[in-house]
Amino acid sequence: MSEAAPARSGPDIPVVEYRGEELAILFDTIHDLTSTLSVREVIERLLDRVITHLDSEITSILLVGADGRLGIQHARGLPEDVIASTSLGMGDGISGYVAESGTPLLIEDIETDARFRRSNHERYYTHSALSAPLRIQGTVIGVINVNNKRDRTCYTMNDLRLIEAMAGYAAVALKNAQRFEEALERAQRDPLTGLANHGHFWSTLTKEIDRAKRYERQLSLAMIDVDHFKEFNDQYGHVEGDRALARVAHVIRDRSRAHDFVARYGGEEFSLILPETGEGGQRAVAEKFRKAVQEATLSPAGPGKLTVSIGVASFPRDAADPNGIVEAADAKLYEAKAEGRNCVCVTD
Ligand code: GH3
Ligand code: MG
Ligand code: MG
Repeated sequence: MSEAAPARSGPDIPVVEYRGEELAILFDTIHDLTSTLSVREVIERLLDRVITHLDSEITSILLVGADGRLGIQHARGLPEDVIASTSLGMGDGISGYVAESGTPLLIEDIETDARFRRSNHERYYTHSALSAPLRIQGTVIGVINVNNKRDRTCYTMNDLRLIEAMAGYAAVALKNAQRFEEALERAQRDPLTGLANHGHFWSTLTKEIDRAKRYERQLSLAMIDVDHFKEFNDQYGHVEGDRALARVAHVIRDRSRAHDFVARYGGEEFSLILPETGEGGQRAVAEKFRKAVQEATLSPAGPGKLTVSIGVASFPRDAADPNGIVEAADAKLYEAKAEGRNCVCVTD
């Protein structure tokens, strides 16, 4: 909760201490917001709570972006184009004022408030508004705005106290969720190539096979192995080897479609999940990746070129579970190596 006294306008309204009912709302809200670690879910739950407990029709959450401006992250009761186009600098309007000052605000009549005086938009059928900072450890990360009290009366100091307290707890929940999502993202990524790592590959393959089963779709898996990479390392060193691997990863990701899933399986091996790709198209797709690697300049300081061998298997024809599909694709990769490398082998 903020140490600063809430700013407000209009005639004096007594500041009322929290009542039992408000404490119950706050307790429920804290429990609700802190029992999820998804940023989106924290925001949705906060909006639901505000709409319900402040009896409002319009609520928006603005977050400070990387550019230092406030954009609407999510809202209830606002049209999509307003959500998409809103971008406010610090100090701009009510939200900018609240973000800059870190002070919550009760406006009783927007048309007569000397600080923000403007004619009320028809969307806002009441002239009264609430705005509170989402602040964590002294830093404002966003603002929550509340408009249109359903009974068409003005918001009160009690309402302001409530939204201020809710915003305080929401900021903590939001920051925790952001940190969790960032940590999760790091835990799923391979730092050298930026691709999904081994663990993320297996969980995704399991999910994709479940989905393919449920909707009776096909799916292919390509296992890709860089040819003679030990020799490359021996000749040019591991640092140049690392650079070359990162470039191979880049080429593969660059050629993949939006729904393909590219991972570094381990070492100089990559795996590629190709949803909606079955017996008809898998060879052509794998050939596209093989050629792209062959044609790319991968090591300007070294020999410049590297090739890959690829083994492909598909669900449901070759196996019905993740282990079986990986084993089937591996067997084909082994064949591709035996056939002289820089080629694709597909189950038939
Ligand atoms: P093949 O054509 O049969 O696949 O031959 P290969 O030399 O590529 O296969 P092998 O399994 O003998 O060697 C793989 C090499 O990949 C050896 C290993 O040092 C190298 N390697 C694996 N991961 C990395 C990495 O992260 N960086 C570098 N520089 N090298 C790696
Ligand atoms: Mg290998
Ligand atoms: Mg290899």
